[in-house]
Amino acid sequence: MLYNIFPNNDIELNKCIEEASKEYSGFFNIPNDEFSVCVFSMKKEIFDEFKSIKEDYVVAFACPRSNIIFICNHDDIKNIYNDIEYKKLIKHEIVHVYAYMYVNFNKYVPNWLHEGLARYLSGQMISGEVCKDLETLFNDNILPNVIYSGGGIFVKHLIETYGNKKFLEFFNELRNLKSSNEVSIIFMKHYNKDIKEVLNEILGENNK
Ligand SMILES: [Zn+2]
Repeated sequence: MLYNIFPNNDIELNKCIEEASKEYSGFFNIPNDEFSVCVFSMKKEIFDEFKSIKEDYVVAFACPRSNIIFICNHDDIKNIYNDIEYKKLIKHEIVHVYAYMYVNFNKYVPNWLHEGLARYLSGQMISGEVCKDLETLFNDNILPNVIYSGGGIFVKHLIETYGNKKFLEFFNELRNLKSSNEVSIIFMKHYNKDIKEVLNEILGENNK
């Protein structure tokens, strides 16, 4: 069989999923939702291919609209994800389930915001993390490392400087987006600052 469907008999995995679910339903203040977790196993030759890419999204991903997350069996990836990192990987995908629900699955919410939030809340960010090309965060041709790392740095700054409440008010209103260009307008409304000005705050701090 390719995968097991939650609930399964992996006690540690179940515990991690339950705790994360509680944590994020609390953060977003929405009810605990039911979702499925499919644990898949990866053939060694595929894994060796992926190991060279070493990006989280090849070993775990979420399909929030269908309320399913897919996670590679820990045994298959133990040499690159220790117990702690593996838990963060699961938490990251669970953040996606709740965050997408929170913005009512609006497709214009930028990826850097979803990925940044997932990295920040799951504890995947490295302390003092810097991102090369952070200044390209709002560009249309944004690079994957900027989506993940840059997004995380931006969200961390927003939440730690201006608080959870403001962030959630801003994020919640993104459910009404009719194009991704409107993000900056909604940002301005809640933060009373241009989104690029806030990015410059971060870039300025990094250059100190
Ligand atoms: Zn993600």
